[in-house]
Amino acid sequence: MHKCILYKKGKEKSVQCEACSWYCKIPEGRTGICGVRLNEGGNLYLLVYGKPVSVHLDNIEKKPLFHFMPGTKIFSLGTIGCNFRCAFCQNWDISQAPVIIKSEYPEAKKHIEMIKKAVDACEDWPPEKIVNYCLENKIPSIAYTYNEPAIFFEYAYDTARLAHKNGIKNVYVSNGYESKENLEKFHEYMDAINIDIKGFTEEFYANICGARLAPVLENVKRCHKLGIWVETTTLLIPGKNDSDKEITQIAEFIKSVSPDIPWHVTAFYPAYKMLDTPPTPANTLLRAYNIGKKAGLKYVYTGNIPGLEGENTSCPRCDTVLVERYGLSCEANKIKGDGKCPVCKEKIAGIW
Ligand code: SF4
Repeated sequence: MHKCILYKKGKEKSVQCEACSWYCKIPEGRTGICGVRLNEGGNLYLLVYGKPVSVHLDNIEKKPLFHFMPGTKIFSLGTIGCNFRCAFCQNWDISQAPVIIKSEYPEAKKHIEMIKKAVDACEDWPPEKIVNYCLENKIPSIAYTYNEPAIFFEYAYDTARLAHKNGIKNVYVSNGYESKENLEKFHEYMDAINIDIKGFTEEFYANICGARLAPVLENVKRCHKLGIWVETTTLLIPGKNDSDKEITQIAEFIKSVSPDIPWHVTAFYPAYKMLDTPPTPANTLLRAYNIGKKAGLKYVYTGNIPGLEGENTSCPRCDTVLVERYGLSCEANKIKGDGKCPVCKEKIAGIW
């Protein structure tokens, strides 16, 4: 357990967490919605500090980030727990682990003991070990991913600061539900973020994700304003968020923040509580791609169907193909460190 820094003390040993937009008020002996921040004796503790449940070396394209150091590897880690309840979650076995444990052991003391037990079983990865691993293996960046990183703020924050000291970049892969306090503290160490815009109605967020849309949209604007490199992702689910109207609204919202923000429209495959929903047809991704382009976005990408049109980066001015991709791998990249199209010299937004 590690004492949190993002919280306020309240009356009668209660606390208010400030790591995400839920701002949970947590009585003594309980956790917040995410299940990994525990009020013990009137102080808030992070149960998963230094204990990721999942650690991998990924292609950066997997995050997905297409305009941030393409073709490089990224050290990726995630813990158990999440502040959302997405019925379609691909990583539900780790993100919803505390929820599953709570349902099996409804009594607070017992389920906290079981959550601690699950965390104890994870390998130790303190910040120093992560950064040393990256230095030894020449890995240029670290992703806080797989589950929502806002909930393990203190672990990510300590790792990110040490990473920056050693010339390593940091990436958040996020549902965009960070608190203002979280981003204000973290942003100087956060080089890039991919934010899911999971739909464009409060109903979709309430009924399918167990969350709210408004804070997410606010954070897309906030991250862009803070100078973090932002990309966005929408997983299109048949019959849930794939109408022309909703796709157009998402595209127009991103355009209103900046037409330079890449938008990944990706295919859903049946998972978790949505096993009866069919996978997204390729045509839906192509329809969304065209809507995004028509709305004025310079960079729209299809994802999760390898080989489908819409994986490459083309120059928005002269249409030269600049980065060729297949699925999650970068096959060729003509953009050099100056970030310009080599043919017409158009500046291509991103970190190259
Ligand atoms: S991170 Fe969010 S969900 Fe978790 S305790 Fe804090 S406010 Fe609640």
